[in-house]
Amino acid sequence: MRILLVEDEVFIAEAIAQVLKKSGYTVDLAFDGEEGLHHGLSGIYDIIVLDIMLPKMDGLAVLQELRDNDIMTPIILLTARGGTEDKIHGLDCGADDYLAKPFQTDELLARLRALGRRGTILHLDGLLTCGDLQLDPLALILRCGADEVQLPPKESQMLELLMRRKNFVTSKEMLIEKVWGYETDADENRVEMYISLLRKKFGMMGSTVIIQTIRGAGYILKP
Ligand code: CA
Repeated sequence: MRILLVEDEVFIAEAIAQVLKKSGYTVDLAFDGEEGLHHGLSGIYDIIVLDIMLPKMDGLAVLQELRDNDIMTPIILLTARGGTEDKIHGLDCGADDYLAKPFQTDELLARLRALGRRGTILHLDGLLTCGDLQLDPLALILRCGADEVQLPPKESQMLELLMRRKNFVTSKEMLIEKVWGYETDADENRVEMYISLLRKKFGMMGSTVIIQTIRGAGYILKP
């Protein structure tokens, strides 16, 4: 699992990151709100741990901006002890959990495990759209106008990731990680095969959306 930790107190951030890495998580750090938002918008994280008091942009604004951009990555907010208003506001803005500072790292690990069990960004509800295509990721149904097809789960998950990242190039490596998980023997050929299946379906449905290959980088959806 890949975690983004946004915390401006460098000493605390690095101490937490060390504990998380020892527990097997991959951790990226951001030290202010803008950097955190920029990382978070990439959509590659399984969980974001977000401090509220941050320079440049506070954690609640980062949270709001991520949700406004359809980034539904589970978020744990780090609040000041007794900051009840922040907690309520944070949950209203779409945070999944909060932890009052100072906290024991064991407690953070327990929260991360609980959120991890709920699944990653690939299992949230809501319809996704790109151009004339609409995907229902829970029902695994792809629609184009009046036409609809049932997608196999892996094809749906792959398209879901491409749609959630529609303004970004998505690498084959990321598709493998998100769709097949970290411990898999799925390789780039498998990704190419699924991309070609999706392209055929777009064509069959008469969609104008294309999956463009960016040589050496990955794929991007073009409406
Ligand atoms: Ca702080």
